[in-house]
Amino acid sequence: MTQGFFDDGSLIAVLTAQPLDRALDYRAPPGGCHLGAYVEVPLGPRRVLGVVWGPGEGGYDLAKVRPVTRVLDVAPMRDEMRAFLMRAADYTLTPLPAMLRLATRAPGLGGSEAMRKVYRLGAGAPDRMTDARGRVLAVLNDYGGLAFTLGELSAQASVSTSVIKGLVKQGAVLEEDAPRDAPFARMDADLPGKELTGDQIGAAAHLRAAVAGGGYGATLLKGVTGSGKTEVYLEAVAECLARGRQALVLLPEIALTAEFLTRVEQRFGARPAEWHSGVTMTERRRAWKMVGQGGAQMVVGARSALFLPFRDLGLIVVDEEHDSAYKQEDGAHYNARDMAVLRASLCSAQVVLASATPSLESWANAEAGKYARLDLSARFGAADLPEMRAIDMRAEDLLANRWISPTLRAAVAARLAAGEQAMLFLNRRGYAPVTICRACGHQIGCDQCDARMVEHRFLKQLVCHQCGETRPIPQTCPSCGVAGRLAPVGPGVERLAEEVTALFPDARVAVLSSDLFASARALKEQIGVIAAGGADIIIGTQLVAKGHNFPLLTLVGVIDADLGLQGSDLRAAERTFQLMRQVAGRAGRADRPGQALLQSFQPDHPVIRAILSGDEEGFWRAEAAERRAAGVPPYGRMAGIVLSGPDLKAVFDIGTRLARGDAALRAIGAQVFGPAPAPVARIRGRHRVRLLVKADKAAPLQAALRDWVAQLRLPANMRLQIDIDPQSFY
Ligand code: ADP
Ligand code: ZN
Repeated sequence: MTQGFFDDGSLIAVLTAQPLDRALDYRAPPGGCHLGAYVEVPLGPRRVLGVVWGPGEGGYDLAKVRPVTRVLDVAPMRDEMRAFLMRAADYTLTPLPAMLRLATRAPGLGGSEAMRKVYRLGAGAPDRMTDARGRVLAVLNDYGGLAFTLGELSAQASVSTSVIKGLVKQGAVLEEDAPRDAPFARMDADLPGKELTGDQIGAAAHLRAAVAGGGYGATLLKGVTGSGKTEVYLEAVAECLARGRQALVLLPEIALTAEFLTRVEQRFGARPAEWHSGVTMTERRRAWKMVGQGGAQMVVGARSALFLPFRDLGLIVVDEEHDSAYKQEDGAHYNARDMAVLRASLCSAQVVLASATPSLESWANAEAGKYARLDLSARFGAADLPEMRAIDMRAEDLLANRWISPTLRAAVAARLAAGEQAMLFLNRRGYAPVTICRACGHQIGCDQCDARMVEHRFLKQLVCHQCGETRPIPQTCPSCGVAGRLAPVGPGVERLAEEVTALFPDARVAVLSSDLFASARALKEQIGVIAAGGADIIIGTQLVAKGHNFPLLTLVGVIDADLGLQGSDLRAAERTFQLMRQVAGRAGRADRPGQALLQSFQPDHPVIRAILSGDEEGFWRAEAAERRAAGVPPYGRMAGIVLSGPDLKAVFDIGTRLARGDAALRAIGAQVFGPAPAPVARIRGRHRVRLLVKADKAAPLQAALRDWVAQLRLPANMRLQIDIDPQSFY
């Protein structure tokens, strides 16, 4: 064997994405294979995808070892990527095959190259020239030799496809089969960006120099919404591309990508590769392959883009780094922000964490000097941060089942009169969070979960937000059978829309809530319509807090600023602070000053006061001091363990046994809390019991956790899930 190559017939270990606890041994195929090669191997009666992970282990009947079926025609996995998957698996206590699954989520990788028809200029002359034919030939001439698909060409030349087919018959246009997975259009890093101003200049220079240095480094880029963070990190992207390395920009939400892609295209003259759930399977496979071969210079994507097989990744930007969407909470539990830092450190890349309201984790890392910190203080152009005020709901006259105070109502009316937009924010989907029977007091709950059913009037259904279970809205109480006494309690965005329509009958009202849109495309369209002035009042959930640009919007009213402060979540204060500031940041982006009004029953609450005063550093210092005193993240370490199963007592017994056998944890000074019913004690018919482990920041928590749970033999119907650095407690 030469370095990293296995000769024909040698024993190799192949890791597959199948739920096995280790790599399996195979024989290298004729012609041999590289370490990291993607291969197809027989597994029982099936053939599965795998990666050559190292030399085989042997130690059993070698005659039974089967050969690799074939080596796939894709670039082998790089050492850096294997190291990343192993480190990420170790950190998150995720089995390696599950990590590999994240890294191979492109369809048909093993399939033979799918071909498609493309069209380019031919040598023949058409028998007769028409306007339409002339346009086709002109387009092909203009693009000198470039191939088009039929759809692209007919759109570009504004002709029907039959015109093109006619030209093919006469040899004036050539029809060819070409591989589908073509490289992405070249992006030009030398095109000029916008002229930077003020803080932007220094920040961009810092990032450019960091990228040019070629090593690992992390930077927190902080600035209010509209201060030009995107403009600044695109400079880092430019530097990265100019050096021939690849750049990855992660966005928390795919509805944000359309606007962003347009911006990137304007900046670099071509569109980057996209990677998220809204991309077609063919395009996913193309992106995956081109990233590996270097045919994609830049990727814009959701958190899973972090697991693409980059050939030479030089920069990762995590935009809106505080966003909880970066935490994946099913399957492998990982936080893409943390994994981005890990990946960057392994491949000598720069990582930029951008946010107007950073997570306390990143703030603390910057304080400790682990990350550089760049601040953009002013908003670009004339736009100022909105004026923020609380509306003291204790002093407002409100009728029952109304949520818009007279003060807020007057403010909205004033904006409408001025021809501006107003937004009302309420982080609750549906019509009403609770449906109660006025005869017996029964609240309609989900049969499968310990959760209330939420009325969605638009869908004409009750929906469980835990498991997705739906059922028609009943006429009679399922508990006492009395008819006509079921009543909605509390507001959701749909109910708020009803109130708004009654108060402002002439206003055009748009509701932005993820459940009201059939597709990401429909949502994007609606966002575009609103941005262009197609609505007067926007009612939105959390969805609207995430960076959409509504230039006409000058007033944001928060219906219930206290909502996030309830509950025992360790991040409740941080979340509320971030969300309120993000939402408020929507107002007054262009040349019109904005205002944010927060309806609150506790305007003197320290978090509300911090939001209003704008003393961010003060808020963070206070929050940091509290967490430090309590020894919780980011100053201590935590892991959440959820045990679940159909039988409550059995689940509790296992939890108790686990809690008692905590020698491995005690050895590192960690404490175990629980077992206790999880905040959502039943989901999909499975009872959930949780334990919480707390340890010092320096303690080797993962190793101890591994030893601790290894002693358990779980019955087949029970599951154990470990969440390192849990974000939410449910
Ligand atoms: P952020 O990412 O911090 O929200 P953006 O980079 O999106 O801010 O900037 C907000 C708006 O201001 C965008 O429309 C952007 O194009 C514009 N902008 C920012 N900086 C400049 C600049 N130096 N020159 C021209 N336009 C700018
Ligand atoms: Zn349910």
